[in-house]
Amino acid sequence: MEEKEIVLVVDDSLLICRQIRTALEDMPVILCEAHTGKEALEMAEQYQPDLILLDVVLPDTDGYQLFPKLQEADKNNASIIFLTSKDKDDDVVKGFSMGACDYIKKPFVRGELKSRVNAHLQMKHQKDDLDRQNKELRSNMEKLNYLAFRDGLTGLYNRRYVVGDLLEDMGDDLIQERKNILILADIDDFKNVNDTYGHEAGDMALICIANIMESNCRKHKVVRWGGEEFLIALFNVTEDEAFDISEKIRKEVEEFSIYSGKEEFSCTITMGLHVHELHEGIEECVNKADKALYYGKEHGKNCSVWYESIKQAE
Ligand code: GH3
Ligand code: MG
Ligand code: MG
Repeated sequence: MEEKEIVLVVDDSLLICRQIRTALEDMPVILCEAHTGKEALEMAEQYQPDLILLDVVLPDTDGYQLFPKLQEADKNNASIIFLTSKDKDDDVVKGFSMGACDYIKKPFVRGELKSRVNAHLQMKHQKDDLDRQNKELRSNMEKLNYLAFRDGLTGLYNRRYVVGDLLEDMGDDLIQERKNILILADIDDFKNVNDTYGHEAGDMALICIANIMESNCRKHKVVRWGGEEFLIALFNVTEDEAFDISEKIRKEVEEFSIYSGKEEFSCTITMGLHVHELHEGIEECVNKADKALYYGKEHGKNCSVWYESIKQAE
């Protein structure tokens, strides 16, 4: 069953209230009546009406002053119609300029009042529908936008984030020893993991390792860079802090048990670190981290290596 709409009548004259009730009696609406400004605000808050018929001359206030307060009290954005004996052109203009959707002069014609109330309720209904659709669209857009920058398996950022927003997130207002540092990490002998335990177990390993990285990088960003490669962007850290984070992740991964049926295994990762220099593009920066990673792979894997240290050794 469709929910009935609520119409709030604000008028101090009991006679007028009765006339309105008669005019709207065969409409499928719930009518409530307030006879003072105070009562009107209480009822607007309590009933959240869809439409308000508002008198201008009231015992404790006037309709123009009451108007914005009613708008605030009613979170349902009721359409407000002035229904008043104030019939000068200026009064009408003032009513509309406040945001009323209509202005009806007393004495009113019953049929006309009914038609207008009906039309405004319909418009309000359509507007509410549009608002709802808009909200849904916006929320879907936000979800799509989120997904466009995420990796489906691990939920980490994907490469699009690196190309789009990483440089901006790095910022350049660093003081003293604080730097932005990139770490490129690659799972060791991951092909063996897939070959031995199966692709699903491999996927599980990727998810577990991604979680370990994220839980150690709450203030930073972790990206699924490629198949079994991750890029970690550490913002505003010292070199010592960056190395500690890298080693902590490396050790946690090494000690983490992953289960494939009854079999238990663990993975190791190799990490290449590089301090981002201000003039450097992201690609160049990642390439240097990759060189350090490659060096680590060539020298026994399961270690953290600074690009800066292998460069000196060259
Ligand atoms: P290295 O220590 O030199 O890095 O050796 P590796 O075996 O890890 O490197 P290689 O590049 O030879 O193999 C990477 C493997 O990672 C091969 C590929 O099937 C696997 N891989 C990439 N993406 C995924 C994925 O999403 N899920 C699973 N299960 N495996 C993946
Ligand atoms: Mg690998
Ligand atoms: Mg690889």
